Amino acid sequence: MTQSSVDVRSLDVTRIRSDFPILRREVRPGIPLIYLDSTATSQKPEAVIRAMDEFYRQSNANIHRGIHVLAEESTAAYELAREKVAQFIGAPAARQIIFTRNTTEAINLVAYAWGRANLTAGGVGILTEMEHHSNLVPWHILAAEKNLRLEFIPVAPDGMLDLDEYRRLLDHQPKLVSFTHMSNVLGTITPAAEIIRLAHEAGAVTLLDGAQSVPHFPVNVQSLDVDFLAFSAHKMCGPTGIGVLYGRKSLLEAMPPFLGGGDMIKRVHLRSFAANDLPHKFEAGTPAIAEAIGLGAAIDYLTSVGMDAIAAHEQEIIAYALERLEEVPGVKVFGPSAEHKGGVAAFTFPGVHPHDVSQILDQAGIAVRAGHHCAQPLHEKYGIPATTRASFYLYNTSEEVDKLVEGLYKVKEVFGM
Ligand code: PLP
Repeated sequence: MTQSSVDVRSLDVTRIRSDFPILRREVRPGIPLIYLDSTATSQKPEAVIRAMDEFYRQSNANIHRGIHVLAEESTAAYELAREKVAQFIGAPAARQIIFTRNTTEAINLVAYAWGRANLTAGGVGILTEMEHHSNLVPWHILAAEKNLRLEFIPVAPDGMLDLDEYRRLLDHQPKLVSFTHMSNVLGTITPAAEIIRLAHEAGAVTLLDGAQSVPHFPVNVQSLDVDFLAFSAHKMCGPTGIGVLYGRKSLLEAMPPFLGGGDMIKRVHLRSFAANDLPHKFEAGTPAIAEAIGLGAAIDYLTSVGMDAIAAHEQEIIAYALERLEEVPGVKVFGPSAEHKGGVAAFTFPGVHPHDVSQILDQAGIAVRAGHHCAQPLHEKYGIPATTRASFYLYNTSEEVDKLVEGLYKVKEVFGM
């Protein structure tokens, strides 16, 4: 395919780009920013920045504990954000939405509170080979403490999960199946509904790492029938410092608290306490109030654009990116073909370290990421220490893909390849 022969038209990307102030900046004089690192964190639209700014200018107060106007306003805004999250992911009730710091904390919450109470020595948990460290290490810690056995659904040569092997692993009667909805390296979109259905048939509780799915395509917890879903605001046009754990009501109610402190209690005595009702039982201390409001604004923004339209746009961009990257001699992109993938292209360039690739791209204003992307076991599987990763979101264009490819030809030139 030749340069710009595909025009991505699903969204009015020019209008969308104008909503993101940072996309107007130059990274060096005369070098505009080409931001291809949204898998690490997304950029923020004006609406999110404004919502947080207005909260601090107009309504800032601690929540749940005051009877003055500001406290009532900030409490109402914080709880409205919870309602928006519930609606966005199709949760039956807002009290099933727990605000955490990020995906990582949400998964740790489940590992510590549900896992500690429900998993016993010899118990089996199933994860996959493509997990981010945040869906590995909490289970490693718990496995060491409780003497659990962890099994891993392998990644097949086509970059998809090997579901035949998964069915065999289910014979071990796992108590937990915890897996990613979309790999942050391969871009693989996993067949979550099927994995969850099979897990439930085997009697396991399911946790879906939605860090890379919730920002990019519609996710509905009721149609997936998932028990827990974790995701981060900062990857979906919202601020850092706030994430979400959705949980099935019966599980959340039966779980002991995670952190202890203010707000998560009904009563405290010198030698005892009674935990609060959902969702407050899991939100100890002053939460990230402005950030929750920012997340609510991000959800309004994404909803106004349309999650289906965002998914379709990313599908077109990644299909175009894969075709263009294939043109560059030596570039090897990991993961499945475009139709099974979100907007992530992690690749190697033989003979050039990914850090050098990204440094040369940076000279052209192109922000990509190099490393193991917190998925070291996956890189070990492929026998490589690192990849360069370009990732795409609603504001990226096919012209930016062209610039990336131009940059890779520059890498070849610099290294005399
Ligand atoms: N899971 C996946 C698939 C991710 O891509 C990431 C972050 O890149 C995380 C979990 C962790 O997210 P956070 O750092 O926001 O907790």
